[in-house]
Amino acid sequence: AQDIAAFDPALWTALEAERHRQEDQIELIASENHASQRVMQAQGSVLTNKYAEGYPGKRYYGGCAHVDVVEQLAIDRLKQLFGAQYANVQPHSGAQANGAVKLALLQPGDTILGMSLDAGGHLTHGARPALSGKWFRALAYGLGADGRIDYDRVEELALAEKPKLIIAGASAYSRVIDFARFRAIADKAGAWLLVDMAHIAGLVATGHHPSPMPHAHVVTSTTHKTLRGPRGGIILTNDADLAKKINAAVFPGLQGGPLMHVIAAKAVAFLEALQPSFKDYIGNVVASSAALAEVLVARGAAIVSGGTDNHLMLVDLRPLGVKGNAAAEALERAGITCNKNGVPDDPEKPAVTSGIRLGTAAGCSRGFGVEEFRQIGGLIGDVLDALRKSPEGDAAVEARVREQVLQLCRRSPIYGADHA
Ligand code: PLP
Repeated sequence: AQDIAAFDPALWTALEAERHRQEDQIELIASENHASQRVMQAQGSVLTNKYAEGYPGKRYYGGCAHVDVVEQLAIDRLKQLFGAQYANVQPHSGAQANGAVKLALLQPGDTILGMSLDAGGHLTHGARPALSGKWFRALAYGLGADGRIDYDRVEELALAEKPKLIIAGASAYSRVIDFARFRAIADKAGAWLLVDMAHIAGLVATGHHPSPMPHAHVVTSTTHKTLRGPRGGIILTNDADLAKKINAAVFPGLQGGPLMHVIAAKAVAFLEALQPSFKDYIGNVVASSAALAEVLVARGAAIVSGGTDNHLMLVDLRPLGVKGNAAAEALERAGITCNKNGVPDDPEKPAVTSGIRLGTAAGCSRGFGVEEFRQIGGLIGDVLDALRKSPEGDAAVEARVREQVLQLCRRSPIYGADHA
C-alpha cells in the first residue's frame, strides 16, 4: 500500500492523534502557527527527492532546471516582502541562519553582544549551552525596571567591550524594538548589527512592526512563526559583499543540500504573505493579543512591561501566587497549550518559572479574533483562579473550560477554512 495508514499504523495513529490535538485545542505557543494546506502540499511534494547543492544557475548536480525556478521564486518573493536586495532561502532553521551569519562575520573567540536568555533572547544569541555561547565571548544585555530593553545599558556594554557583532531580536519580548537605536550603538562601537526578527517577521512584512531592513547589516528570521510558512530559516541583507559572504557561509560553510521541498513551501508562504488578506490577518493577531492581555490583567495577572505591542505577551503569575509550570500543565489539561516562561528576575528555577508566554498567531489563523480572545482570556482566568485556590487545580473547572475550548475549536476548524 502507498498510504501510511496501511503500511505503518503505529506512525499513522500518532499523526492522526496530533492532527486531532491541533484541531481540538487552542494553540497559544507564541512561536507556533498553523501553516496553510498549500504550504504543506509543497512540503510533501516530489521536491523532497532532489539534491541541489549550490544556488540557482550554479549547481553541483544535474536536473536542477525546475528547482532553480522554485528557489528563484522564493528569493524574489522574499525580497519583495521585506524590501531587501539580497536573500538566502536555504537555512534549514532559524538557528542555522544565525549560525551562518556568525560563520560569515566572525572568528571563534570574537566578542558578541545579544539579549540574555532570561530577558527573552534566543539560545543562538550567545547563551552558555549553545555554540554561540561556547565558541564566542558572549556578553548579554537585558531589560530595565520597566520591562523594556535597556538601550543605555546596551550602549554602555557595546562601548566598553567593543563586540564585533550586536544581535537584536527576541523570543519573548512584547514591545517594539528600536532598530535605529541599535544601529546607532553598533556604529559607535564599530560592530555589525544582526537583527533576528524570527518572532515578528509577519508583523514586519505587513507594517505592524517597523522594519529592520533600513538599519541592520544582516537580518535573519524563521519562516514558521508569525510568517506562517514551513519550519525554516532565511537571511536578508542590502549589502552585496555581505550577501556573497552569507551565501558561502550557508553553503558550503554550514549546510549541504538545500531542502528544496521546504524552499517550495517557503515560496508559497511568501506569496500568501504578499496578499492583502495577510495584512488583515496580522492586524487581527495584534489586536487579539492586546485584548487577551487586557483581560488577563483584569483577572489579576501582570504582563511584563505592562502590555504588548505585538503577537505575544509574557504573563507574570506572581500576583496570583501561581507557578508557571503548574499554569501550563493545568491549561493543557483544559485544552489550551502554551509554555511556562521565566519572568525578569524570576525567583523560580527554569523548570518551574513564574510565568507563561502566550501568543495569538496560531489562534487567528483558524479564524479567532478579538472576541474569541476575550473569551479565551476569561477561560485562562478561570483555570488560574482554580490554581490559586489549590496547587493541583480544579478538575471540574478544567473540564468545563475544556468543553468551551472544544466549542470554540469546532466553530473554527483549522483546515476547514481557507487561509488566503
Ligand atoms: N531566533 C529566535 C528569535 C527564535 O525565537 C527562534 C526559535 O524559537 C530561533 C531563532 C530558532 O529557530 P529554529 O527553532 O528554527 O532553529
